[in-house]
Amino acid sequence: MTEQTMPFWLKQRALLTPGRTAVVGDGEQVTFGELNQRARRLAYFLAGLGVRRGDHVALLMTNRLLTVELIHAISYLGAVIVPLNTRLTPAELAWQLNDVEASLLIYDTAYGDKVEQLKDEVSCQICADSQLDGVNAGQVDDHQVSLVEHIALDDVHTIIYTSGTTGRPKGTLLTFGNHWWSAIGSSLNLGLHADDRWLCCLPLFHVSGLSILMRSVICGMTVVLHDKFDPQRVNEAIGRDKVTIISVVTAMLTAMLDTLSTERYPEHLRCVLLGGGPAPLPLLKACVSRSIPVYQTYGLTETASQIVTLSPDDILAKVGSAGKPLFPAQLRIVSDGQEMGAGQIGEIIVKGPNVTKGYYKREDATAQAIQDGWLYTGDLGYVDEDGFLYVVDRRNDLIISGGENVYPAEVESALLAHPDVKEAGVTAAPDPKWGAVPVAFIVTREGATLTEAELVAYCTQRLARYKVPKKIYFVSQLPRNASNKLLRRELRSLVQQERQPG
Ligand code: AMP
Repeated sequence: MTEQTMPFWLKQRALLTPGRTAVVGDGEQVTFGELNQRARRLAYFLAGLGVRRGDHVALLMTNRLLTVELIHAISYLGAVIVPLNTRLTPAELAWQLNDVEASLLIYDTAYGDKVEQLKDEVSCQICADSQLDGVNAGQVDDHQVSLVEHIALDDVHTIIYTSGTTGRPKGTLLTFGNHWWSAIGSSLNLGLHADDRWLCCLPLFHVSGLSILMRSVICGMTVVLHDKFDPQRVNEAIGRDKVTIISVVTAMLTAMLDTLSTERYPEHLRCVLLGGGPAPLPLLKACVSRSIPVYQTYGLTETASQIVTLSPDDILAKVGSAGKPLFPAQLRIVSDGQEMGAGQIGEIIVKGPNVTKGYYKREDATAQAIQDGWLYTGDLGYVDEDGFLYVVDRRNDLIISGGENVYPAEVESALLAHPDVKEAGVTAAPDPKWGAVPVAFIVTREGATLTEAELVAYCTQRLARYKVPKKIYFVSQLPRNASNKLLRRELRSLVQQERQPG
C-alpha cells in the first residue's frame, strides 16, 4: 500500500500506457510517457534549487500544462504542493506564503506584478516560470539527485487554504491517501475508465480542479485542460475533444446552457458534476429536458473533493438533495452530541480515508473540526427516509460566489481597517450570475463623509475582487445579540427583504 503514491501512479501510467494521452492543453497533447519524463526533469531541476522532501512549494499558476508537470514534479521529490489562489491580492498571498512557511514560490509571469509587490514581505525563494523554459530542452542533469520512491499514504501531498471564520484562512493538509481514496470513491461512483476525457476548467488551485489530475493518473484517463472558464470554448471543446466528464459550479452550467447553440450535448458527455451548492430546480429541469446527465455533489476541501453525490437518476425525485456518501465514507447528522433521525436537522459530520488530518500549525482548529475521526463540517442538513442528504445551510457564514469562497470575517476586518468605519457586517446577497455576492452593512464614525465608491475602492486595494462587497448599506447600527455578537443571519434576511436596519 505504501507504494500507491503519486510518483508511483504516474510512473505506473508511464509504464502501462505510455502512449495514451494524459493532458490536452495549451494546444498540445501530452502522453503519460511524456508527462512522466517532463515531471522527472522538472523534479531534478527543483532539486537543484534545493527542494527536498517535506518542503513546501507554492504555485501561483494558471491552468497550464506546466502546472500539471510541476504538480507531479513536486510529488516526485516528496515535497508538498501549496496551490495559491491567483485571484488573491499581493498582501493575501504574502500572508499565506509566510503562514505555510513556503521554501519556494513558482509563479506564472502573468502574475509578475503581484510577485513584485509581495517579494519583500516573504522569505522564500522565488522562481518565475520562464526560468523553467530550458528544463524540457534537456538541460538538466538527471543523475544529480535521486527522486523519492517511497512515500506513505499518510504523507502530506497538498496544503490548500480554506475557511477563515475567525478572519484568516487555514491550510488544509491533504495526504496522498486522501487523494487516493477520493479518486477511488469517485471512480466507483462514476465508473471512471481510461477512455474518459475529463474537461477541467475549474482552477487547479481548488481541490475540485486538482482532484481531476489525481483521478487521471490513477485511472489512466485524459484531462482536457482549459486555462479559464469560457462557456463558448467549453461548449465547443465538449464536441471536438470528445469530453465525457466535466466539473462545474451552478453559475458555469447556466452560462454554458445560455451559449449552447444546439439543443443537446453529444452523447459521449456522460457526467456533468455540479458542485459548490445545490442547483436551482429550473436549471435541473432544463438539464433533464436536454438529457444532460447532472450529478449534484457535496464536498469540502477537507474531504479532498466530493464526498456525497446524487446521480442523474434521482435528480428530479430528490430535488435539492446532495445525494449519498461515496464509498467508503460515512455520514451522520448530529446535534448536541446526539445522532439525529430521518428528517431532523443537525450538523453534517463525515468520516473516511479521504478526510483531512487537520490544518497546518493549527492544533486548536484541528481538534475542533476533527473528533474521533469525524469531520465536523459546520454545514447544517438532514438525511431523509431513503438516506439522501439535504444541506440546509452554509457552514458558519461562508459565502460562495461563483465557486469562490468569501469569508465574511475576512472582508469585515478589511473594512474595519478604514479609519472612517466604526462597525462592519458582511453577508451574502443572492445574485443571478454568481449565485451569491458579498454585501456590507457599515456604521461610520461620527462626522465621517465616507461614500460607497470610496469604501469599495479601498477594499479593492486589499481584497481579491470577488471578496469586495458589491453593495454597501450605511446604517446607524448593526443587529447584535445580548452578548454583542453580530447577527449575520439577521443581516442576510434583511438583504433578502431589501430592507435596511437602524
Ligand atoms: P470548499 O472547502 O471551498 O470546497 O467549500 C466547501 C463548502 O461548500 C461546504 O462546507 C458547503 O458549505 C459548501 N457546499 C459544497 N457543496 C454543496 C452543496 N451541494 N450544497 C450546499 N453547500 C455545498
